[in-house]
Amino acid sequence: MTEFRTGTGWDSHRIDQSRPLILGGVRIESSFGLAGHSDADVLSHAITDAILGASAQGDIGMHFSDKDPQWKDAESSHFLHHALQIVRLSGFEVVNIDATVILENLKLAPHRTAIREKLAAVLGLAVDRISVKFKTAEGVGPVGEGLSAEAQAIATIVRRS
Ligand code: MG
Repeated sequence: MTEFRTGTGWDSHRIDQSRPLILGGVRIESSFGLAGHSDADVLSHAITDAILGASAQGDIGMHFSDKDPQWKDAESSHFLHHALQIVRLSGFEVVNIDATVILENLKLAPHRTAIREKLAAVLGLAVDRISVKFKTAEGVGPVGEGLSAEAQAIATIVRRS
């Protein structure tokens, strides 16, 4: 019987006017970015946690401490790739990713193709296995008030036959 597993991921970062905005490894033209120890790529962090979760390998903070100077301003595609290696070493392959970014005051839809293509390249998957959706918080809560951005992701993995 084919063994499938799923994992979820969630992340949040504060809006920071002095930082660039990186989502799914893509630099997005914007008047604001996100605060964080690494490049603060909230989408890549949620996907990394989803992949680690599917293989019950802990979370991103366990593998990449935000106290560790080597991850200062690090590209989050590195974290994503590391999670992929862990899953493969456990005998699994990623089947697909579905993710949602929740962010106010910026139209992200024009960047969807670039983000999906970048994530697909990092994960070694076909683009049609990567879904990225965009929502606002309708002006409510910290995301709605433009104080933070959030991302959610789910990953499905399958044991190699
Ligand atoms: Mg994060």
